[in-house]
Amino acid sequence: MKRIITLLLCIALVLCALACAAPKPESDRPTVICTIFPQYDFVRQIAGDRVNLVMLSKPGAEVHGFDPSLSEMSMILDCDLFVYVGGETDRWVDDLLHKNGRDLNAVALTDLVDTVDEELTPGMQGEAEDKPEADEHVWTSPKNAIRIVEGLTDALCALLPDEAGAMRANAQAYINELQTLDDDFREVVGGAKRDTIVFAERFPFRYLCDELGLRYYAALPGCSSNEEVSISTVSFLIERVREERLPVVFTIEFSDGRIAKTIADAAGCEVLELHSCHNVSREDFDAGVTYLDLMRRNLEHLRKAVN
Ligand SMILES: [Zn+2]
Repeated sequence: MKRIITLLLCIALVLCALACAAPKPESDRPTVICTIFPQYDFVRQIAGDRVNLVMLSKPGAEVHGFDPSLSEMSMILDCDLFVYVGGETDRWVDDLLHKNGRDLNAVALTDLVDTVDEELTPGMQGEAEDKPEADEHVWTSPKNAIRIVEGLTDALCALLPDEAGAMRANAQAYINELQTLDDDFREVVGGAKRDTIVFAERFPFRYLCDELGLRYYAALPGCSSNEEVSISTVSFLIERVREERLPVVFTIEFSDGRIAKTIADAAGCEVLELHSCHNVSREDFDAGVTYLDLMRRNLEHLRKAVN
């Protein structure tokens, strides 16, 4: 009899554990919509399958100039938490928030950190604007990523108070990894032979470079579309690589790397990619690539570039 009772108790315990561990059905979970990859990945690390997580931009798509369809707009208005970047690229969100007069639960990454304005560095192609826009690429510095994760954790815990303990534990473990990433970037740059990088594309890495004290030259400002880069800009960048004897010129994800190759051929250096994490390819998305994976890859490429 004792054995049977023990056995029944064990079965009950296992069933309870299974019930507790099983994710809630999809219909019971809140929906969180993220415009682009960085915050999609941050929410995934904090909340896991406690939420229905949607990335609005399709993997591999150009995220600048995104124009939501009517069905996407109504999906956003119906969601439980909407996470966007803020700034020029997301002007359409301001319209959506204000025109509809609905109380959308929304968080902008640019509200969670201190922003700096986009700037034109020497040699960079583009016209100085009367009123410079804030640089939107706040997630490119791991220090900012930590602040963003803290802000998103608060928003998610308010949405799911019963799950707050577990989500705060996830967030802390993830923040520890981001802190290690930040330490590693500082170690690479602190012990490097060089303090300058050249970027043959638009330049969304100001927050990372400012944080690390890196000097940079680039062809175009942060969010420019793929406009033609002038011969004088290319010549200027070739000169910088030659003068500073740089071993690497950087290109960006989804670029054909044509300008970088021209510079590399003329100045005799290597072309490497720095991934801005704006979006990932369909292949990377399906393989579950994370912000940390991409930034670790960036760290190794930067190590080569400054040594
Ligand atoms: Zn951008």
